[in-house]
Amino acid sequence: MLNENDLMRLRNRADELEQRALRGGLRLGSDIDGVICNHYQRLISVLIEEKIDCVFPDHWTLMDSMQSIAAPPNVWQRLRDDKEFWIGMEVIEFLPFVPELYCTSRGFANAQEITRQWMVEKTIPLAPIHCIGDREGNRANKVPLLWAYDIDIFVEDDPKQWAEINRSGILCVSIDRPWNKSFDAGPFRIARLSEISLDSRGSFIIEVIREIEEQTTQAA
Ligand SMILES: [Mg+2]
Repeated sequence: MLNENDLMRLRNRADELEQRALRGGLRLGSDIDGVICNHYQRLISVLIEEKIDCVFPDHWTLMDSMQSIAAPPNVWQRLRDDKEFWIGMEVIEFLPFVPELYCTSRGFANAQEITRQWMVEKTIPLAPIHCIGDREGNRANKVPLLWAYDIDIFVEDDPKQWAEINRSGILCVSIDRPWNKSFDAGPFRIARLSEISLDSRGSFIIEVIREIEEQTTQAA
């Protein structure tokens, strides 16, 4: 969760963001896995298909898990560099805007090239793709890169990264997914990516800012 200081930092940027929003000049960025790409479903399908001793119940054949799923280490070591594994992933939802960048913790071999190919095949709008994780898929701090791109709004599904980005003063929204449902993202939570539609960019961001203002006013 964010504390009062975090919210105040975001609130202090409200005027600037609102002006940019009204001019249609907001700069947006997005995560990939869990936001637009259904990596969990692909992983579950492979584990079931190969009859690998799974770490989740049998009925989890859809992306309905309430928690992140980890493949056994030996399986993951093989899958992470298997191009077909990554190319075979389905789209969860399409972004309703063309972002300034995609930033992901993917760090497998040729991650950028394979991700780009996946996007082309799925007709996902292209933008610079930054793969900043390590080969184990561990999270990396996205904030320095988002600052470098002067990003105003970023879309995440991971609560830890969501908090880290908001604490930096960059407004990060949390897309509603089964594994982050129990996490309280307050006004930052969106049910569908279409809520950040191109036409209503301005009204969306202004609404979030108003809610932050209300919260900080109540807290004062
Ligand atoms: Mg993600």
